[in-house]
Amino acid sequence: MTYDHNNVFAKILRHEIKTSFILEDKYFASFNDLCPKAPIHVLVIPKGDYTDIYDFNAHANPQEIIGFYKGVSQTIKQLGLLEHGLRVISNMKDWGQQEVMHYHLHILSGKK
Ligand code: AMP
Repeated sequence: MTYDHNNVFAKILRHEIKTSFILEDKYFASFNDLCPKAPIHVLVIPKGDYTDIYDFNAHANPQEIIGFYKGVSQTIKQLGLLEHGLRVISNMKDWGQQEVMHYHLHILSGKK
């Protein structure tokens, strides 16, 4: 699948759509989901142009992969979830009901 530079997360990364980042560095950004499905619902996205989990894992370079997953851990810590835990979800394509075609992880928490 070709990466669409007009997807909403690409616009967020270009600051064309306003979002306050929880954390950000050269490899990732994390921010609250617009329509939370849990008391805590945060998205973590890589900075690179990858459509989904398969595309990212297959084509990102090792620095991008390490940087992204460190960002996931930093976000989990920043949210104070190390004690109580969380659920991570990544939707992919049609059957996974992926809506935004820029790879992202959902972090869901705040209740059982
Ligand atoms: P997915 O179905 O995995 O592609 O999920 C996309 C998620 O992006 C949904 O949970 C949406 O609520 C969320 N979303 C869409 N637009 C925005 C936005 N501007 N800021 C934050 N989250 C968004």
